[in-house]
Amino acid sequence: MTQFDIVIVGGGIAGASLGAQLAGEARVLMLEMEAQPGYHATGRSVAFWEETYGGPLLQPLTTASGPLLAKPDPDFHDGSFLSPRGTLHIGRPGDEPLRDALLAEFARTVELLPVNPADLVPGLRPDWTLGLLEPSCRDIDVAALHHAYLRRFRLLGGETWLESRMEGARAGPGGWRIETPRGPVSCGVLVNAAGAWADDVAVRAGVAPIGIRPLRRTVVQLHVPALPSPELPLIMDMEGGFYFKPDGHDRIWLTPHDEEPSAPCDAAPEEMAVAQAIARFESAVDWPIGRVEHKWAGLRSFAPDRVPVFGFDPGVPGFFWFAGQGGFGIQTAPAAALMGAALLTGNAPPVTVAAIDVMPYRPDRFR
Ligand SMILES: Cc1cc2nc3c(=O)[nH]c(=O)nc-3n(C[C@H](O)[C@H](O)[C@H](O)COP(=O)(O)OP(=O)(O)OC[C@H]3O[C@@H](n4cnc5c(N)ncnc54)[C@H](O)[C@@H]3O)c2cc1C
Repeated sequence: MTQFDIVIVGGGIAGASLGAQLAGEARVLMLEMEAQPGYHATGRSVAFWEETYGGPLLQPLTTASGPLLAKPDPDFHDGSFLSPRGTLHIGRPGDEPLRDALLAEFARTVELLPVNPADLVPGLRPDWTLGLLEPSCRDIDVAALHHAYLRRFRLLGGETWLESRMEGARAGPGGWRIETPRGPVSCGVLVNAAGAWADDVAVRAGVAPIGIRPLRRTVVQLHVPALPSPELPLIMDMEGGFYFKPDGHDRIWLTPHDEEPSAPCDAAPEEMAVAQAIARFESAVDWPIGRVEHKWAGLRSFAPDRVPVFGFDPGVPGFFWFAGQGGFGIQTAPAAALMGAALLTGNAPPVTVAAIDVMPYRPDRFR
């Protein structure tokens, strides 16, 4: 039987980023059931880095990831993974409590500037009178980031098996025996980085699930022939009904911010969500719209408290959770991977994440 120190289940951004931190120190195998590691949530994101997104417990991970994304080591990636964007949070009369809550929550951590949104968005409908500009928001080159992690993992000696589902796992006195289509492998630590399948992987390993729920999100790529500028900020409804951002000179990426419970699967967009997205977009701006060029959906997976789950399961030695990254798994990946690697190895966390309290992320909170 092939032996490893660590087997990571899942080759999305979570598994790849953690693997890249661990491969230099241990013999690591990454099991990915698809032919392409970014096939699920990682390949379907809207690709932004926004410090307020996800709330105050996600913000430290997002903020700590910022410099690592903006100025990665040259041997990891040549140039930045980030490019300018900015977010404009918009609201209507009655949304003042939402605006004030956002200001209060991030008063000490994120720059939020009250603005008249009509000054920044030509064609904004007149009822959108409230605006908060979050200048630090950036676009992320998700494919480059994911590939850089996969490359580093490989260069450090990590092994990746594609089209290799973890079918089952049993803990014994000598560690784990894991069943794969290529035969059994053994390891000391089994990492659950399976995204929407995190609870399924736990059950297959005889570990109690945590209640990580996949929620479907729809994205519509819309042709907008008279888009005022490709440099407009990401425009986000304070009530959580939609957001959209330019993608080049005459198209936008738009979502109705849907969260439809789903079984783990190859998610596909539903017509109702696409229609809802367009209706909400038209309620925000008067820009004429062209055709729907493309639409997709992906699963954002949340623990019951909507905070990621990082750490060893308190009931099952050697079972490490790295799951529940929700809608923030790309923007938090660099810091989360550093924190996760320190938790897994017992090494001191690097200075970038040393000040971040790990308690809110630990699986113990559900046991
Ligand atoms: C529409 C949408 C927009 C988003 N926008 C953003 C954004 O702008 N910014 C941001 O930071 N985040 C965003 N996200 C969230 C982000 O995409 C996720 O948090 C992140 O991709 C999760 O990464 P993951 O590796 O945990 O999951 P995944 O990428 O889904 O990877 C999990 C992998 O595990 C594999 N797997 C599962 N079970 C097994 C098994 N038994 N054996 C082997 N392999 C298995 C799967 O095939 C899969 O490849 C968005 C998500 C969606 C859907």
